[in-house]
Amino acid sequence: MFKKYNFSAGPGKLPESVLKRMKLELTDYHGLGLSIMEISHRDQVVLDLIDQTSEKIKQILELDDDKRVIFLQGGGTMQFHMVPLNLSIENDCVDYVDTGYWAEKAIKVAKELGRNTYISGKSHTSIPKNLKIRRNAKYLHLCSNNTVMGTQWKSFPETNCPIVADMSSDLLSKRINANDFGLIYAHAQKILGAAGVTIVIVSDKLLEHSSQLVPDFFRYNTHILAKSNYHTPPIFAIYSIDCMLDWLQDEAGGIEAIEANNSIKASKLYNFLDDSKIFNSPVEEQSRSKMNVIFHATNDDAGKNFMCYAEKNGFLGLKGHRSRGGFRASLYNAVTISDVNALIDSMHEFESNCG
Ligand SMILES: *Cc1c(COP(=O)(O)O)cnc(C)c1O
Repeated sequence: MFKKYNFSAGPGKLPESVLKRMKLELTDYHGLGLSIMEISHRDQVVLDLIDQTSEKIKQILELDDDKRVIFLQGGGTMQFHMVPLNLSIENDCVDYVDTGYWAEKAIKVAKELGRNTYISGKSHTSIPKNLKIRRNAKYLHLCSNNTVMGTQWKSFPETNCPIVADMSSDLLSKRINANDFGLIYAHAQKILGAAGVTIVIVSDKLLEHSSQLVPDFFRYNTHILAKSNYHTPPIFAIYSIDCMLDWLQDEAGGIEAIEANNSIKASKLYNFLDDSKIFNSPVEEQSRSKMNVIFHATNDDAGKNFMCYAEKNGFLGLKGHRSRGGFRASLYNAVTISDVNALIDSMHEFESNCG
């Protein structure tokens, strides 16, 4: 088969060895003669799977004892709702950083739910500095990596206000002090596995005063108490995360090695863009995402031609987000340095042919 390079923004690339393992285990999970998809969610096998997956996350992120890790459905989008519902009540002050697209979607929901919503910083081409966080804000919400705008936080605000972070497109791509956050959420399908499951990491403390008025299903505490098994969990998607965590630790060399690799990939591509006569990056240098590299062609014709050229040469998923146009190369954990080298070589060749 002709080699394809997957630079899709999401669902994103998974390592070949993980897909092979899943294929191998698909009809016979751990010698049980059944697929993981066919086993009851009340069976010890599934309880163990959920338990071991959350333990691995706790270990990799070195989480404190008061942190809970749960697996929910409903994607990042449901978290836009669950965060204000659980951490505030109507008219409460909640602060948001508006870095565009995904951040804006979260803000819209907080407003719809009648929260006193304040934009503590706003910029769509860089990460805003000097945030003004209200003293009575219940939380500060930010999107750690903006998949659409191509911006990423390199360090996080120092504040007593609990920080809630949407890390859907960069959790486990680098080391973070996860204990500094009140709540972190990340769906699986950009970096960590198959769509259908969202990881939520939350401090017990933060939920102590959470409203009793919220229906059971939408309360974090319900799912914490039920150990992510309040109703049928997305077992296969959780299993995919479990496989990815094994890959991260055993094959990719752990989170530090992943981080180093991700930095190399991104700097190679940004360096190329900065030197290019045809392509350029619109994102402020210090705010550039290592996960989603946004770029534009300096003229429309070159842009159209490059799209065809890239697809013909096996580079998939490079089309920019539908709201923005242009191009986007997503360099998630499974994308290799050699994938990025191949992309750069191909862009180089395109540029020479144009000139
Ligand atoms: C893709 C994405 C979402 C949306 O997630 P769904 O699972 O489709 O609801 C939210 N936040 C970020 C940062 C994303 O990249």
